[in-house]
Amino acid sequence: MTAHRYDVVAVGGGPANLSLAALYGTAAGRPMPVLERASGPGWHPGLLLPGARLQTSWVKDLVSLVDPRHELGFLNYIVSTGRIYAFLNAQFDAIPRLEYARYLRWAADRLDVRYGTGVEEVSYDGEFLAWSAGQVVARTRHLVLGLGTVAHVPPCFGGRGTPGVLLAEQLAGRLDELDRHRADPVIVVGGGQTGAECVLVLLQRGFSDVQWIGRRHWFAPLDDSPSANDLFRPSYARFFQGLPAAVRETLLRDQVLTSDGVSMSSLQEIYQTQYEGFLREGRSPLILLPGREVVAVRSRGGVISMRCRLSTGGQEFRETRHVVLATGRRPTPLPLAPGLAELIETDRTGQPVVEDDYRLRWKHGDQNRIYLQNRSRLTHGVNDPNLSLLSVRAALIVNSLLDRDAYTIVDEQNFTYWPTAHFDEQEGRTRGL
Ligand SMILES: Cc1cc2nc3c(=O)[nH]c(=O)nc-3n(C[C@H](O)[C@H](O)[C@H](O)COP(=O)(O)OP(=O)(O)OC[C@H]3O[C@@H](n4cnc5c(N)ncnc54)[C@H](O)[C@@H]3O)c2cc1C
Repeated sequence: MTAHRYDVVAVGGGPANLSLAALYGTAAGRPMPVLERASGPGWHPGLLLPGARLQTSWVKDLVSLVDPRHELGFLNYIVSTGRIYAFLNAQFDAIPRLEYARYLRWAADRLDVRYGTGVEEVSYDGEFLAWSAGQVVARTRHLVLGLGTVAHVPPCFGGRGTPGVLLAEQLAGRLDELDRHRADPVIVVGGGQTGAECVLVLLQRGFSDVQWIGRRHWFAPLDDSPSANDLFRPSYARFFQGLPAAVRETLLRDQVLTSDGVSMSSLQEIYQTQYEGFLREGRSPLILLPGREVVAVRSRGGVISMRCRLSTGGQEFRETRHVVLATGRRPTPLPLAPGLAELIETDRTGQPVVEDDYRLRWKHGDQNRIYLQNRSRLTHGVNDPNLSLLSVRAALIVNSLLDRDAYTIVDEQNFTYWPTAHFDEQEGRTRGL
């Protein structure tokens, strides 16, 4: 059987490529096939924990920032499901993550998403060949990779196989089994939003000895202020891309809490649950253990011993039979055949060089383009892996694919003047103009 030939194929059916396929379909007048490994629609299914909220406004859906009249906008979804009045009356500050996942499913149903098609390898013979289950499932002139992330397990946990150690995304599916251990200590490792959500689920389920370990000196809230949100504007993204690499790295470190902290509502819920727990039981069901990094783990007879490095110096030991890891995520490895991977230009960290329009620099890039979504934080800024500018990124890729301005990115009324200066690469320092 000969594989179909396409102009462009997207690999990965997360929000990034769904947005792209939606905007491309409208601008190009033909669908973009999206190859997705999962057997059906889903968005971080293991992490749709009760009460979990989207950290981004629903206005920043798959299309509306660049094409508010697009039929795959959230407003069209919520009206066509008949829930608009119930939705408005619920007065969400932040919508349930479950609702966003349903919206993505609704949009995916209207696009050409091919589920159950995990691409194991992409090779190149003058066109890209996408291989799945040992067969070429598509030939394409251009390729977009939007593969998302996978859970990160710190090396001291020695892979995923340690008995009693669960990934955050496995917790919901294992709660019934854990129920009989509700009085035992459970340690959640990871002080970010996912860690907070795991803590909340355990508290709501009645676990009475939850311990929460985080590396920072306090469980820091997400900065969702108006000034922090200035960093999530197309104008800032353009400014950021023009800065020298060393300045970008410093800024990213400074900006980390604009995308990596715990939402204020989750923190308040945790503290209020604690308070009530104390009123009822005379003791709090949770202890907070900030300023600790787990650096060594030993598992013997079902007991997991963890050595923690303290941020103030020194160390301490913790023991438990149940650990939940919420220790961040890392980019999914790119499924590029070695012969193709070696033709791609990389930076000093070994990562592919991503251009302003998300195109990779590679040997045959003039004829056959590879675009990479959500993997260029260092060059494109703190907005890169998340949903805030999803449709703006997708629009830039569509414009590049079609070699015309199918979408115009408008960002007016900006009264923040970012510090621009002349950076002297020779001297390695920035000089004011
Ligand atoms: C629990 C959670 C909540 C989040 N909430 C927010 C939020 O509220 N606001 C925000 O801005 N950001 C949020 N993020 C961060 C980010 O916006 C999301 O992770 C978002 O889903 C990224 O979209 P994506 O399409 O790049 O990747 P993903 O959503 O991870 O999608 C990638 C897809 O590619 C598929 N895939 C991977 N490899 C292959 C392959 N070889 N072949 C075929 N398919 C493949 C995967 O199965 C997956 O479906 C959240 C992240 C997590 C983990």
